[in-house]
Amino acid sequence: MWQMTDNPGLAAHSLRPHCLRQLRKAQEHHPKFKNITGEIPMRWTFCLLLLIILTSCFVTEKTGTSFYKIDLKLDVNRQLLNANVDLTYYAKKERVDILTFYLHRNLSIETLTCKNLVEYTFNTEDPCAFPFTPEAGTLTIHLSKPLQKGEALQINLQYVGKIGVVTQWEINRITKEWIELGMYTPWFPYQPAIENFTYIVDVKIDPEYQIIGMGKTKKLDDYWQVSQENPTNDIIIMAAKEIHTKKNQRNGLSMDISYTATSDSTAVDMMEQGLWILDNYGEWFSDIKAYKASIVIAPRNIGGGYARRGFVVFNHFEDEDYYQNKIGYFRYIAHEFAHIWWLNAPTNTWEDWLNESFAEYSALMAVREKFGNETFKDLIQAKRQKSKNMPAIKGIDRMDENASTVLYDKGCILLHELEAEIGNDNFLQLLKRLIINKVKSTEQFLKVLTDLSGIEVSNKFEKKLSR
Ligand SMILES: [Zn+2]
Repeated sequence: MWQMTDNPGLAAHSLRPHCLRQLRKAQEHHPKFKNITGEIPMRWTFCLLLLIILTSCFVTEKTGTSFYKIDLKLDVNRQLLNANVDLTYYAKKERVDILTFYLHRNLSIETLTCKNLVEYTFNTEDPCAFPFTPEAGTLTIHLSKPLQKGEALQINLQYVGKIGVVTQWEINRITKEWIELGMYTPWFPYQPAIENFTYIVDVKIDPEYQIIGMGKTKKLDDYWQVSQENPTNDIIIMAAKEIHTKKNQRNGLSMDISYTATSDSTAVDMMEQGLWILDNYGEWFSDIKAYKASIVIAPRNIGGGYARRGFVVFNHFEDEDYYQNKIGYFRYIAHEFAHIWWLNAPTNTWEDWLNESFAEYSALMAVREKFGNETFKDLIQAKRQKSKNMPAIKGIDRMDENASTVLYDKGCILLHELEAEIGNDNFLQLLKRLIINKVKSTEQFLKVLTDLSGIEVSNKFEKKLSR
């Protein structure tokens, strides 16, 4: 989901199998991942792994959604962060009496209160056990009375500290030119097991600065408010002195792009591409009545990009690079925006093909619609080539070195063949039904396909999944 797939123009970001091999080697030698260099392809590998970990409890029963209410003060000159966090935490398991959170080790906790608190410790010495936040300390809260599954606990904590450029990823930072805070830091008490949460963050910052947030962002009297009511897995806050934003909307779907150093014409072009993609997906997939998607072009040359649902971040690029690789950028945005619809299957098993193959094929459909059939056919041909001698989709280990080729390329070829077999109209009908029914398993997928196109088509497809 956060992966840049085989993207000719954006090769530096792509996750290639050798990255997974490197990761394995690194894991063998450095179980805590401490010494892995932050090269860009590796970071995409991490993003993928992070996603797998974050969603590894995907099928667990629903409890309440944890909620953060944060008052955040940013003193840019001193690179100082001051936060007052009220977290409504829901236990995901029975008998939880120890809670663990990750928080950047430069932050010092001033107070922490919650019901039945015995003590808390904040270990900033030992390496962080969670591989994606290597600069985090580990906050452990001991309770005298265990929480039952689904039980809520109110936790308040206040902390302060100095965060410069977070070195491992070189994405998150508090600098005068650019502020970018997210879970890589992590600037808020982060627990992977919470998975998805909602939040309201009130940000106070030097009035010269403007804020970009993942979620609804508005300027109130002397602070900014960023709120997210759709459960998500990160709290992203960005700021700079002069942020340009362009917005547009069509048929209830809206799109904005924020940037500081990109030319207006390029930003508008990218925004229009994004809106065009959303508009077409809205028509093809239906179901979502209103949605806001965002793109941010961060003014940093290092660190690469990343994506959350409906929120895509690029690092700085030159106009020339954009226009030379326009289809590559288009495809990347189209893949990430497709996950607004394709997100229901578990991401830690082979059933992730229901997310990734469909998101990638949706992106190719968008390319076909926008750039013509010849371009589409070239991309299909390249995927067909790569899919040769690849293992079956069914049962592929998500950590297999061929997993990305199988899910992003081979899965696409299967969907392309299915579209050719049942026809474009039926194929679109199939996509609509899968989304409306929130299909999250291959078994459910085959049932929908049987209902639409008959048992023979469905059986044939099932066999292909095993080949
Ligand atoms: Zn994806």
